[in-house]
Amino acid sequence: MQHFQFLHQLQQCAKFHFPIIGKKLHAQIIKIGLNNCSLRLCNNLIDMYGKCGLLDNAVQLFDEMPQRDLASWASIFTAHNEANQHKKTLSIFPNMFLDGLLPDHFVFASIVKACANLSALKVGKQVHSQFLKSSFSRDDVVKSSLVDMYAKCGLPDNAKSVFDEILFKNLICSSAMISGHARCGRKNEAIELLRKLPVKNLQCWTALISGFVQNGNFLDAIDVFLEVRKEGVDMWDPFILSSIVGACANLAALQLGKQIHRVVLGLGYESSLFVSNALVDMYAKCSDIDEAKKIFDSMLKRDVVSWTSIIVGMAQHGQAIEALSYYDDMILAGIKPNEVTFVGLIYACSHVGLVTKGKSLFKSMIEDFKLSPSLQHYTCLLDLFSRSGHLEDAENLLNKMPFQPDEAVWAALLSACKKHGNTKMGVRVANRLLILGPKDPSSCILLSNTYAGAGLWENVSKLRKLMENLEVGKEPGYSCIDSGKELTTFYAGEACYPMKDEIFGLLNEFDCEMRKRGYVPDTTFVLHDMEQQEKERQLFWHSERLAVAYGILRTVPGSVIRVVKNLRTCGDCHTVLKFISSITGREIVVRDANRFHHFDDGRCSCNDFW
Ligand code: ZN
Ligand code: ZN
Repeated sequence: MQHFQFLHQLQQCAKFHFPIIGKKLHAQIIKIGLNNCSLRLCNNLIDMYGKCGLLDNAVQLFDEMPQRDLASWASIFTAHNEANQHKKTLSIFPNMFLDGLLPDHFVFASIVKACANLSALKVGKQVHSQFLKSSFSRDDVVKSSLVDMYAKCGLPDNAKSVFDEILFKNLICSSAMISGHARCGRKNEAIELLRKLPVKNLQCWTALISGFVQNGNFLDAIDVFLEVRKEGVDMWDPFILSSIVGACANLAALQLGKQIHRVVLGLGYESSLFVSNALVDMYAKCSDIDEAKKIFDSMLKRDVVSWTSIIVGMAQHGQAIEALSYYDDMILAGIKPNEVTFVGLIYACSHVGLVTKGKSLFKSMIEDFKLSPSLQHYTCLLDLFSRSGHLEDAENLLNKMPFQPDEAVWAALLSACKKHGNTKMGVRVANRLLILGPKDPSSCILLSNTYAGAGLWENVSKLRKLMENLEVGKEPGYSCIDSGKELTTFYAGEACYPMKDEIFGLLNEFDCEMRKRGYVPDTTFVLHDMEQQEKERQLFWHSERLAVAYGILRTVPGSVIRVVKNLRTCGDCHTVLKFISSITGREIVVRDANRFHHFDDGRCSCNDFW
C-alpha cells in the first residue's frame, strides 16, 4: 500500500471509529518501515488513536516520535480531550513551547476547550490573550470555543463580547451563547437570541433547555420544552429527553415525567443508558420508588450511576435494608461504587439505626475503595450517630473530622441533643453554633429554644436581635405541586394564587378539625415579634400548606399528593401535614430542601427527625 493510501485509510478509521482496523494499519506501517520516514503518517496515527478512544497508544507513539510538529501537538491535545483528560491537556501544553512551536488555531481551540471543561478561567484568560496577539486572532472557531468557555465559567458578559466579534455566527457559537445566558439566569437574553436566529436546530433548543436545567431553572426548562413541542420541532433526542427527565425529577413533576417515559418507550430509547438512568432517578425523586426499581431491573446494562440512583432512591424512601442488599448485588456485578453511592448507603443505615454497619461502610469506602470522604459523608455519619442517640460519638466525630463543620452540621447535632434530652451537651453545641453566626432562621430557633430550656435568657434576647436582621434577606419560601395536568407554584404569604377562596376555606376546615384533635400551633417557628393570633395567621400561609390544600382540591381522590419545597419545612407545617394526612386519608409526599417526608395516616417517614 502506498503512503497516501495509508493516510486516507487512517483518516477513515478516525472518522468512523474503527480502532481494530486502525491498529492493523499501524502494524502494516511498522512492517513496511514507513513510520520512520513520515511525520504526517505518525500524526495521523495519533489522531486515529485519539479519536478511537485509545489514548495510551496515542501517547506512546507521541512520546517515541523523534521530531514533532504543530499537527502532532494538535493531535495529542485532541486525544486527551476526547478521553476527558482535560487536565492532562493543560499540563502538557507548556511542553509545546519547548519544542520551539507556537500554537495555531487548532491548538488554541483544543486548549480553550480543555479550560471550558475544567472551568479553568485563569489559564483560559491567558490563552485568550495569547490568541489575540497571535496571527490567528480572527479565527471564528477559536472565538466560538472562547464563547463556550466564558459561558461555562459563568461570565456571560465576557462570552457576549467575544460572541459579538464573530463575523459568521454559526449555530455552534450561537448555541454556546444561548446556553451561557441560560445557565447564568439570563432567561430573556437567551430566548431573544434564539428567536433571532434565522435557522434553528435541535442543538439551539437543547442549549436553552439544558442551560435552564443547569441553572436550576427547571420550570422554564419544561415550559420551553412544551412550547417547542407545540411548534412541531422534533425534540426526541436522547440528550434532551434525559435533560427534561432531570428537570421533572427536580420538580417532582411525575405526570410529565411519565409522559416522557412513554415517548422514550415509543422511540426505543430505553436501551440508552443515560436516558434510563435519568428515568430511574426521576421516579425515585418523584417518590415512585417501585417504578424506579422496575426500570432499573429491566435495564440490560447498568453502570455506577444506575446503581447509585437506585440505592440513594431506596435509602431516601426509608427502604434501607433493600438499599443495602442492592449494594451487595452491585459489588457482585463487579461495579465499583463511587462517593455518591456511599452517601446513599450511610444515609440508609441512618434511617434504620444500623450504627455498626454504617461505621464499617465508612471504613470500607476509605480502605477498600480508596475514596476520600467529603463533608457530606461525615454529615451522614453524624446523622446516623445523632438519630440513634450515640451523641458522644457524634460530638467526637465533629471535633476530629478534617472539615470545618458548617452551620447545618452543628444544628443537626443540636437538634439531636434536644430530642434526646441532653441539655448539657446541647448548651455546649449551641455555644459553638452561636460563635459561627447562624444564617438559617431554623437554626436560630433551635438555639433560642435550647437557651430558653437552660434558662440562659441573656442569650435568648441576643438571638432575637440576630433573627430580626436575618428575616430581611431571607429567600422566599415556595412549594410546587403537580396536579396531573400542570405544575402550580405557591409562594409563602402571597395573596394572589389560583382557587384562593377554596384553599382558604379548606385550610380553615382542617384547622377546626385539628384543634378538636388537640393541635396547638407551634408559633416558635415565626420569627417576628407579634401577637399570638398574628403569628398563627402567618403559619397558616406557609407555601406547603397552600400547595397541599390545592392538591386535595384538584387531584383525583385517593391519589398521592406530591409537593416540592425549596426550603426546609417548619415544625408546625410538619405537624399540620400529619394531621391532614389522617383527616383526609390521603398520602402526602413533601420533598423539602433536606429530605423526603412521606405523610401517611398521621405519621411521617422521617420519624419527626429532620
Ligand atoms: Zn411552615
Ligand atoms: Zn417528616
